[in-house]
Amino acid sequence: MSALFRSVPKLAIVVPCYNEEEIFPYCLRELTVILADMMKDGLIQAGSFILFVDDGSKDATWKLIQKAVSDSSCVQGLKLSRNEGHQSALLAGLSSICKMVDAVVSIDADLQDDINAIRSMVKAYRSGYDVVYGVRENRQADTWFKRTSALSFYRFMSKMGIEQVHNHADFRLLSQRALEALLLYPEHNVYIRGLVPMVGFASTEVFYVRHARTAGESKYPLRKMLALALEGITSLTVFPLRFISALGACICIFAFFAIIYVFFMKFSGNTVHGWSSIVLAIFFMGGVQMLSLGIIGEYIGKIYLETKKRPRYHVESFIRNESHD
Ligand code: UDP
Ligand code: MG
Repeated sequence: MSALFRSVPKLAIVVPCYNEEEIFPYCLRELTVILADMMKDGLIQAGSFILFVDDGSKDATWKLIQKAVSDSSCVQGLKLSRNEGHQSALLAGLSSICKMVDAVVSIDADLQDDINAIRSMVKAYRSGYDVVYGVRENRQADTWFKRTSALSFYRFMSKMGIEQVHNHADFRLLSQRALEALLLYPEHNVYIRGLVPMVGFASTEVFYVRHARTAGESKYPLRKMLALALEGITSLTVFPLRFISALGACICIFAFFAIIYVFFMKFSGNTVHGWSSIVLAIFFMGGVQMLSLGIIGEYIGKIYLETKKRPRYHVESFIRNESHD
């Protein structure tokens, strides 16, 4: 796909922000420059813009976004009424501009992802790709713990049949039709990077080196990382339930042979009265049952929440600079 199939796109860069006042000025400056450069080089249309989504920040992030919107027609702002989490904030931003643009790039506010890769993404879009994944070439900037846990998580997910691009987070380009398709998934428990491959269309990867955060601290503490991992698994696969069924079947087969063995021992007069083995068996079965119930409960909880059809988020305001139009 090297020929140019598509005309110059109107592009939106969507940036979820949660308590990012420290890094926001840097982020705004860098993204504005790259946007202007891409317009100058004829890579994207003049009306392209950056959309900052304030995910219920408690610091001055929204004030900074408002100021940026009043200073430039290239900047738009969306404020959620409360903190809904990265995935929901990103979806809110994506769905609010879906009809306005030809393509959209999502990127984190800390710009750990290399913004120059956006150029390559747009070029890939123009040569016909609908989904362009930003993939980290290495994760040296991350802590050892983050690197190892992320790698084990990808491996674990792929063992369970969840298709996912390795070392890709939420830095990607989507064409308008890919985005429209993504927004057709109505579920509330979302793990976007697991949903995008389900959307289909032609996809490719763009590689870049990931840097460390230049200011502020990670908004993804261990607690949120684990929650995201759990969300990814329980929203995309019923593998754990099947695993439990398989485990149950194996235990039943084992028990069947054990019973035969016990009867055999009894009738041959070699019965052993073992208190500890009985207690062990009770504990073991109790443990397995508890684990099973816990996982089944997790899914029932999801069904419960999905059937409520709660809104994913509430937009408090949506601002753009009319005076520059
Ligand atoms: N973020 C958000 N809502 C949250 C947590 C994070 O919108 O509840 C945003 C955050 O502002 C950043 C992106 O999600 O733009 C990724 O967060 P961060 O860089 O802290 O995650 P890490 O790179 O450490 O995984
Ligand atoms: Mg980050």
